[in-house]
Amino acid sequence: MVGPTYSLHAIVLRKTKLGESDLILTLLAEDGRQVRAVAKGARKPNSPFSSRLEIFAEVEALMASGKSLDIVKEVRLVDAHQGIVFDAQHAAACAPVVDLASRLTQPDLASPKMFALLSSALGHACSCNAEEALAVCAAFMLKAFSFAGFRPCFDRCVGCGVSMPLSCTETARDTVLFSAAEGGVVCSRCLLFSDAQRIPVEVLSWAHFLLMSTFDDVVASRPPCRVMFEILHLCQSWVREHVGSRLKSLDFLFVSGLF
Ligand SMILES: [Zn+2]
Repeated sequence: MVGPTYSLHAIVLRKTKLGESDLILTLLAEDGRQVRAVAKGARKPNSPFSSRLEIFAEVEALMASGKSLDIVKEVRLVDAHQGIVFDAQHAAACAPVVDLASRLTQPDLASPKMFALLSSALGHACSCNAEEALAVCAAFMLKAFSFAGFRPCFDRCVGCGVSMPLSCTETARDTVLFSAAEGGVVCSRCLLFSDAQRIPVEVLSWAHFLLMSTFDDVVASRPPCRVMFEILHLCQSWVREHVGSRLKSLDFLFVSGLF
């Protein structure tokens, strides 16, 4: 039985095949709630939904409340983010963005900042080159961790609060201790019983910059690809520690050889 209809402004985070021709969609609504819905017949070649319900697409939809899953009745594309969808490098760089958004949001929990952050990240990633999109992805992840309540600390020891040197002029050989379990950088005096690992100052300095900067500034800063990958590895250990899973999209990015 189909319930009342409502309109929904949302971004497609994930899609799963259902039966012969249907799709189950995971959407992030404008208020930050996650919505799971069925698009009936969406995989038929002549479906009005085809090409409008791809991952990364921002849509206006007419929905009907259902018993367990809501039902997509009509869809209008707001932005397909084609620059991401039609380029393998962009798509691989942005897959962890929607993957993380689906892990950090819930059906009954409003989080409007998360939608705004996601929409802005995809908009920027769409209009920059693939290496810059990788930096947008890393910046999105660090900012999303903050919104979800587990912001990494890069400039002060998480044990005693002492200020840690994070100058970009340091050589790549200089390292600082970092612990995902403890929430950030750790000074040598607080090292006892810590699982901290040594991370180059250059990497933590860039991570701090990504966390504190707008996407415009991130794209303009010409972030080095090699360092962005190191930050994405930090993000994966952060997800493992604080979300309790791994992002397969990140694992794919690491082994894909696309960059
Ligand atoms: Zn300390």
